[in-house]
Amino acid sequence: MSDYIPIQLRQLVAHRAHSICEYCLIHEEDTYFGCQVDHIISIKHGGKTVATNLAFACTFCNRFKGSDIGSLTLTSGTFTRFYNPRTDSWKNHFKLDGVRIEPRSEIGEVTERILQLNAVDRLLERSILAEIDRFPPKGALDFID
Ligand SMILES: [Zn+2]
Repeated sequence: MSDYIPIQLRQLVAHRAHSICEYCLIHEEDTYFGCQVDHIISIKHGGKTVATNLAFACTFCNRFKGSDIGSLTLTSGTFTRFYNPRTDSWKNHFKLDGVRIEPRSEIGEVTERILQLNAVDRLLERSILAEIDRFPPKGALDFID
């Protein structure tokens, strides 16, 4: 979102996330385009610019998510909301299988698919980072343990 977010709020969001994308777990230092503040519930859908509705997201996760708030599951076709970093536990909805982010729930499935968490180029990037011991980043243990 391009909506104005005060610098103090941006800093809070980045600090709270240990500068790690709260969806794909890449560290901001390992991204080319940096990370952004994501409105978990987009303004378009009534979300507010408040700490409880903001997440730290890499450019790819934020771009693929856009203003969406969920999708239809492939199995049941029912609308399912995305993973919410403020109210959900990452490990309840995803698990790491090497560098792949495997969904553990329908929430994880729609989030993984729409945010393209396992796109080939993203897997390649994480593989390279894993080889130099930068993926998963140290702070990500708070998310995945
Ligand atoms: Zn990401």
